[in-house]
Amino acid sequence: MIGGEGKQALLEDSLFVSLPSGEQNFLREQAAAGRLTFQELRILRDLAADFRLWGEPGVAELWAAALQALGPRSLPGREEKRRAVRAVQERWERLKEEGPRYGPSGEAPEGEAAGPWEKGGGTEKPPEESPLALGPCPVASEKTRCCGLLTLDAVSSCACDCSYCTIQSFYHGGRIAFRSCLEADLRALEKTLPPGPLHIGTGQSSDSLLWGNHRGLLDSLLDFAARNPRVILEFKTKTANVDPLLNREIPPNLIVTFTLNTPAVIEHEERRTADLGERLKAASRLARRGVLVGFHFHPLIRYQGWEGDYRAVFRQLKGEVSPASCALVSLGTLTFIRPVIRRIRERGRPTQVLKMPWTETAGKLSYPREVKRELFSLAWEELGDWREEVFVYLCMEDPALWQEVFGWDYPDNRAFEEGMKRAYLAKIARRL
Ligand code: SF4
Repeated sequence: MIGGEGKQALLEDSLFVSLPSGEQNFLREQAAAGRLTFQELRILRDLAADFRLWGEPGVAELWAAALQALGPRSLPGREEKRRAVRAVQERWERLKEEGPRYGPSGEAPEGEAAGPWEKGGGTEKPPEESPLALGPCPVASEKTRCCGLLTLDAVSSCACDCSYCTIQSFYHGGRIAFRSCLEADLRALEKTLPPGPLHIGTGQSSDSLLWGNHRGLLDSLLDFAARNPRVILEFKTKTANVDPLLNREIPPNLIVTFTLNTPAVIEHEERRTADLGERLKAASRLARRGVLVGFHFHPLIRYQGWEGDYRAVFRQLKGEVSPASCALVSLGTLTFIRPVIRRIRERGRPTQVLKMPWTETAGKLSYPREVKRELFSLAWEELGDWREEVFVYLCMEDPALWQEVFGWDYPDNRAFEEGMKRAYLAKIARRL
């Protein structure tokens, strides 16, 4: 037993055992030598995990340098160790403040790939499959300005493998689950739909277009939209897989949205997705066919060189798609719940998404408000000539930020939801 049950448990937990062996040995030695509190050991374990993700020298190396800087002493005492912990922590904080530094194209570290992914779901209804129902957006909150999106989980889990994604904390085991009887489930669901216009998305538990029309997925969903014109159906994707849509008739109440980011972020953090040019071309093909499209700039990431890169993306977008074809642009940043942070650390795959200063709001960790203001303000400025025609919103943000960035806000989430649906329905009506 090393230094009490708490410390022992910490040295056996899944995050600890995921660390490189050199870091594990160092932490074990420190725990055995004493003079570190449980809290300090926990901090060092978390920092060791982050340094590994960022490709930085590890905690053992920084610790040795910190003690050396404090002067020669054969056995460091409590005060020296406290100061060494602080020095390691300061290095971590400086790196977080600096933000990610993405190398030139082609230099994204390989790391371990997720998967192998299996397409699950058989012809038989598995016993654990629950009835198909509309659910609230899994990350929505009453404490933030939220749009009331309803989710329809036709597929569960995703293979895009984005390093910041919340889905990785919901599903494990690399298995993609398809509804076994989607067509029948949708017909049953439509008998229970609440009145009024409904905004329903299929892209919260998976990527809407990644699987194409596997098992008639898109056919069933598009038929559902066609039978229910008061539904605004949103397919959200990071792929360019629009051929299965272009091969068939598309109801006007479908909006296909593309999540966009800069080439640097896509290459380093969204490794199994289409590149920016492919996504924009796919959006443009749909728009030319008369399909409404939209764009999610989510997450905007403050990395070294972000301003120029994001400005270029907005300009590229405006060169490919006209505002008349575009229903929405949403803006959001990196926001984490603690289980996702732990999962990213345990996976140990190179990523810089945790290299950010964060503050906790409404149980989630995200950039401080001034950083968000900077990110959103740039986007708002770039969208200047689109604002009249396109519904632009902040996804899951503090209402105060709406005021600071847009100069106005909705009084509550209900008003936001209604304003969004009105804007989408007006766009859809113009397509009819
Ligand atoms: S604003 Fe974003 S997080 Fe909130 S409900 Fe809508 S899609 Fe979900």
